[in-house]
Order: sequence, then structure tokens, then C-alpha cells
Amino acid sequence: MTLAPLVPLPERVGCLVLGGGIAGAATAYHLARRGERSVLLYEPKTPNAGASGRAAGILTDQQWNEWDVEVARETVKEYEELSHRHPHMGFARNGFLRWTTHPLAAEAIDVAYRRMRRWGVSVDRIGPADLRAAFPWGRFDDVLAGLRGTADAVVTPSATTDAYLAEARDLGADVWFGDGPAQLRAEPSGFQLRARHRTIAARTTVVAAGAWSKALLRSIGQGLALTPYRVQAATLRPPDPPPERFPSGHDLDTDVYFRPEGPGRVLAGDGTERVEADPDRFVTTGDPGFVTHLAESVRRRLPGWEGSELIRAWAGVCTATPDRRPHVGAVDPSQGLYCIVGFNGYGVMRAGGAARRLVDLLVEGPGGRASDRLVPVDPRRFPTSPPDFPPHPGFTLEGGDEPRF
Ligand SMILES: Cc1cc2nc3c(=O)[nH]c(=O)nc-3n(C[C@H](O)[C@H](O)[C@H](O)COP(=O)(O)OP(=O)(O)OC[C@H]3O[C@@H](n4cnc5c(N)ncnc54)[C@H](O)[C@@H]3O)c2cc1C
Repeated sequence: MTLAPLVPLPERVGCLVLGGGIAGAATAYHLARRGERSVLLYEPKTPNAGASGRAAGILTDQQWNEWDVEVARETVKEYEELSHRHPHMGFARNGFLRWTTHPLAAEAIDVAYRRMRRWGVSVDRIGPADLRAAFPWGRFDDVLAGLRGTADAVVTPSATTDAYLAEARDLGADVWFGDGPAQLRAEPSGFQLRARHRTIAARTTVVAAGAWSKALLRSIGQGLALTPYRVQAATLRPPDPPPERFPSGHDLDTDVYFRPEGPGRVLAGDGTERVEADPDRFVTTGDPGFVTHLAESVRRRLPGWEGSELIRAWAGVCTATPDRRPHVGAVDPSQGLYCIVGFNGYGVMRAGGAARRLVDLLVEGPGGRASDRLVPVDPRRFPTSPPDFPPHPGFTLEGGDEPRF
């Protein structure tokens, strides 16, 4: 069955966005909002077929550099505003607490706290009593240090993608999905997209194809420093239902995080693999090793949730870059080729702000303020034929200003 659009599509568009995840949807929305009249988003499967349909939706501005802090903060604000029109987005400002029992990590928390306060992040230092008050089902006596992001939030990522697409359509953008894998071909000015049933030419093309972006860009001779990798999460039902609303948590020692997920349920994850994954051939279910690690972490830190029922466990593919910053900007401006990819597992919390900055560049053109604002995430900051590199994502405490390549 083909889910081709019911309305006829143009043969040539001003801007073609490739990918119906949260990054592509946010880009189409911001383009349409800025008055770009001819926008088409192409998704070969269905919106949310990639990582955005599998993500946890924790949003925080506890980030490792100022660019990320600003982008995450703006993204959270945008989701809050959108959620007034799209309540199914499940947006809530529930806060986000992280902690450690390790002396070295406690020192890092202290440094991170001072750095983030300097950047205006709403963050407090917390200890065992604060953690017990937030998570009465937990055990925190041995915790040496913690951080609480008071403005942090949660959202349902797939519903947020849907909200962006609905708004983009209302503003005049076309969304075309379900026409299968498509090929890109360079034209004298721009690119041509050939899917199963249609061919469309575009002056400007934005690659927002998540883990598929590496192969897609390679198919047109563009090498970008990207490594797809697998990430896992699970839904649990604790024996005593937790309140519907409580803060999200992150145990820095085990790297396990959790958030409320509807009545009586919790979403928990970590399970990041440090090897390259193939987004077309990965194991989509949770591994026994991941589930065991989760169960052990719960037993140790959250004994009130011991004996939780495992509702489901799954995996998705995220995309790493060498310096954990995404690639947002021009890949080959002479061909009108741009990208918004490489979110290192934090694309939900960055999509809105990153897409707006990219659209500023597309609308205002290169050489101005919009280009300056994208310097830290310029896709051309790495060599054009980058060597392979292992993913090293993770919600670390360091200030990450030095690219590691
Ligand atoms: C288990 C898990 C938990 C996560 N938790 C969080 C979290 O709490 N907070 C957070 O911020 N992030 C989280 N993430 C990361 C987040 O999901 C991603 O960073 C984000 O969804 C990336 O969005 P995207 O639009 O770039 O990519 P995707 O959502 O992967 O979308 C890419 C789309 O491109 C399409 N596509 C493929 N090939 C082509 C082509 N040739 N042309 C056009 N389109 C194509 C795909 O079908 C797909 O729909 C998590 C991820 C996972 C897997």
C-alpha cells in the first residue's frame, strides 16, 4: 500500500526536507512559519519511523556548552507553546534530578553546577534528602552530590513530530510519506528526488534523515562525520503505582534514567552501544543484557520499584558526531544542500531551536548573523572524508568545547 498524498504534488519545490522525524518536522514548520511558500517534506516510511518514534522525551538545558544550553532552552519553550494547541504532546515541566556516589563525579558535578549557573541554567545542588523527597521509592544514603534542573520537562516525542507536521501543513507545507526509499541526484541547480511514484526537483535540500543521513549523503558524494549507534529503553509498571507526575531522574553511576510515562508507568533507559549500527538492520527489541542491567540498577537504587512488570523493551538508532555537537548548516551551499543531523541521543531536546537556526540561515543567506550562530555546529568543521570513529555519547558532566577527532 502506498500512502502517497491525496493532493497532487508540485514537480519542483523551493525547499525539500528529507526525513519525517522531529528534526525534519521542526524544519518544515519553521520554513513554513517564515513564509517559505514552497516546502515539501519527504519521508520514505511514515513520520516517526526513526528514533523520534522510540525516544524517551526528557528535555533539559543541563548541557555542556552555551550553544546547547540556548538551543535546548528555546526548544523547551517552543514545545510548551505548541502544547497549548496540541495537548496530546504530553508536555510537563516536571524537573530533572541527577546524582552520583563517586567522589570524582561529585567534583565534576560541582564544576558543572558553577559553569551552568554562569550560563543561566536553572539548576540547584541537591543531596540525599532532596532525592528522597522527589523519589520516596528510592535509596540515596550514599549519594555524595546531585543536580536538579528546575525548569526541565518531558514531552511525547512522536506526538511533538505530529504537532510540527500539522502546523507545517496548516501553514502551507506539503508532507509526502510512504513512497519508499528515494534517490537523490544532483542537477545543475539543486537536487532531484526520485521516489517510487514521483520525481521532484528542489532548489534547496535539507537532509534530516537521522541515522540514514550518513548513507544518503555518501550516495551523493558527501562525507559527513556521523556514526549511527543503537540505544535501548523500556516501559515498566512498578508494583505500587508512582504518582502521575514526578521528576525525571538520572543515576550518573549506572547511566540509567527514568521518567513518568502515563498512569502507573515509568519509562527507563540507557543501553547505549558504542559500536556502529545499521539503521536498516538493527535489533529493534531490548537485549536481555539491557533488561538485566535495568533490573539490577532498580534493585540497588530504587528498591520500591523492585518487582516491576516489564511492559516492553525496544531499541532505536541515534547518530553520533566526534564532538557530540550536531551538524546543522550547509553541506554544499553551491548545490543548495544543508543538513540537521547528528544529535548524539539528544535530538528531541534540541530539534526546535536547531531547526529555527537552520531556517534563519536558509532565509537570510550565508555570511550574516544566522551563519555566525551556527559556527559551533557547522557540518564542515570536520574533514570531508572523515575517518570512522566510535560513538561516545552519554549525558556527561564535562564542558565539551574541545572537538575530539
Ligand atoms: C531509546 C531512545 C531514547 C531517547 N531519549 C531521548 C530523550 O530523552 N531526549 C532526547 O532529546 N532525545 C532522545 N533520544 C534521541 C532522539 O530520539 C533523536 O535524537 C531524535 O529523535 C532524532 O530525530 P531526527 O529527526 O534527527 O531523526 P529520526 O527520528 O531518526 O528521523 C529520521 C527520518 O528519516 C527518514 N529517512 C530515512 N531515509 C531517508 C531518505 N533517504 N530520505 C528521507 N527520509 C529518510 C527515516 O525513515 C526517519 O523517519 C532517544 C533515542 C532513543 C532511541
